[in-house]
Amino acid sequence: MTHVIFDLCIRDGACVEVCPVECIIPGFPEDEWPWYYIDPDTCIDCGACVPECPVAAILPEEDLPEDQQYTTELNALFFTDGPGYAALDMAK
Ligand code: SF4
Ligand code: SF4
Repeated sequence: MTHVIFDLCIRDGACVEVCPVECIIPGFPEDEWPWYYIDPDTCIDCGACVPECPVAAILPEEDLPEDQQYTTELNALFFTDGPGYAALDMAK
């Protein structure tokens, strides 16, 4: 299982600092990947990021409301089809 960032994300980055496995990455370019994304293959489901988010945009995938369940795939796609971790260098 994984935690998932969904469409309430306002890109403030508050969640990044607390992730023990550094698997939360800002989407880039922003017009294609407008949120932050969690790598589902690396996330250890610790939940540390959830209370840091000011807009409650992170949930365990099993708790996503039905209209947000598509975002599980979007988070994964950012790492398989999008820039993934390379976005950290692209945004510099
Ligand atoms: S649940 Fe834990 S490991 Fe997963 S993204 Fe959040 S802080 Fe990182
Ligand atoms: S803390 Fe919430 S709003 Fe901020 S980047 Fe992370 S998911 Fe997005």
